[in-house]
Amino acid sequence: MNNSTCLVLKFGGTSVKDAETINKVLNIVSIDNTKKVIIVSAHAGVTNLLVEICNSKKDTISSLLSQLYKIHSGIAKDLNILDSTKEFIMNELSEIDVITNYLPLSPQLKDVVMSKGEVLSSMLIYTYFKEQGKSIAFVDSREVMKTNSQFTNAELYFDLSCKNIEEQFLNYFDEYDLIIMGGFIASDEDGRPTTLGRGGSDYTAAVVSSALNATELQIWTDVNGILTSDPRFIEGVKKVRKLSYSEASELSFFGAKVLHPSTIHPAVKKGIPVRVKNTFNPNDDGTLVLSEKSNIEMIKAIAFRKDVITITLRSNRMLGAYGFMSKVFQSFEKLKIPVDIVTTSEVSISVTVNKNEYNPNIEKELSVLGEVTISEGNAIISAIGEGIKETAGIANRLFGALKGINISMVSVGASEVNLSIVVSEEDLQRAVTLLHNEFFNDSLNPVFFE
Ligand code: ADP
Ligand code: ASP
Ligand code: MG
Repeated sequence: MNNSTCLVLKFGGTSVKDAETINKVLNIVSIDNTKKVIIVSAHAGVTNLLVEICNSKKDTISSLLSQLYKIHSGIAKDLNILDSTKEFIMNELSEIDVITNYLPLSPQLKDVVMSKGEVLSSMLIYTYFKEQGKSIAFVDSREVMKTNSQFTNAELYFDLSCKNIEEQFLNYFDEYDLIIMGGFIASDEDGRPTTLGRGGSDYTAAVVSSALNATELQIWTDVNGILTSDPRFIEGVKKVRKLSYSEASELSFFGAKVLHPSTIHPAVKKGIPVRVKNTFNPNDDGTLVLSEKSNIEMIKAIAFRKDVITITLRSNRMLGAYGFMSKVFQSFEKLKIPVDIVTTSEVSISVTVNKNEYNPNIEKELSVLGEVTISEGNAIISAIGEGIKETAGIANRLFGALKGINISMVSVGASEVNLSIVVSEEDLQRAVTLLHNEFFNDSLNPVFFE
């Protein structure tokens, strides 16, 4: 088949949360005859329950398993497919039950548990769509998506996975209109299940779109597109109509949960447009993410991330010395702590680290180089937009709007579309609201935001 005419649509957990929303998905994929790949997440809440199972004691497992049974059998019953899927659901859940005899779980066993959400959702939705008369094929993502054995956050063997996808999917498209596959899960060289990190279904979809050279990658979620900030955190957010790839990737990296941070890269390489759309409002155009820059004079959105730890190292030995910074970063490398923002002065260096990636041993490691201060309870706020480098005066407006808020670090991102500051978590809500008011008030041009 001509693979340039296929679409890849990814539906997140909220888009497949119950029978009603699964029917919305059915309508969306039935809209025309374009060949479509459907990538689905686990039903809403399921992955969180699986995480809980991984971190629980044996005596709470049966109640968590019965919650999982209730969710899946409830959806299957409402879709009228319980008879044909009950055994499958029971088998997958009893596999989890057996694994929990080995608590606390190794990362490898955790991934067996974590993979069940997408294993179940993809099979239930496939069964339902087939029973509704759709011409649809099922692909087990563990057979095509191949990774290393870094369980719970595995690295994809990109070229191998793309080759597998191309071979299998193009064959299926000769026979079927739709192909469905679970996101987020993969397997290592020995066939053991792996996962791609929370939110990883977006990444699966992006990889598939790249392998098939799809006309568009659509990320279907529960809001109208990429918004000027997190709607759960502040009021008055607006939809951004268009964004550049670099703006979207900075936005997701700095906390906007609407896209998985890695999503964009496979699409960028192939120049595939990415559209973020609302399953509950499919007629809205959503947000289009494109390789070219658009509305360059603008700030497009304000993202933020909580649970940030700031580490500051002061040392006179930094003055005029070479090799000092390299020693600092070697310490982070040794403990495998990823660093986000870095600022330096003549005699000090400050870096930020995510709380869940922090290792307290870093204090001891760095103390041989100088005086170390650790500050917890911080947040990063990032203003994102091509305007940061293109428009004079944006930084002035940003700092002007934040009068009275203590800013402990400032970084104009290497990507040039991101200006990030670090504030204390207590000031986060006020700071984001002030910035949002400054840049996204009512007088904005509706061509860019709505
Ligand atoms: P899904 O289940 O579709 O993967 P997610 O919960 O992962 O959905 O992501 C969508 C959510 O991201 C939205 O409901 C919204 O609350 C949140 N969000 C945070 N920042 C933004 C933003 N800038 N634009 C849009 N949504 C955002
Ligand atoms: N189900 C996984 C998660 O909740 C992957 C995803 O939804 O993208 O993180
Ligand atoms: Mg998501």
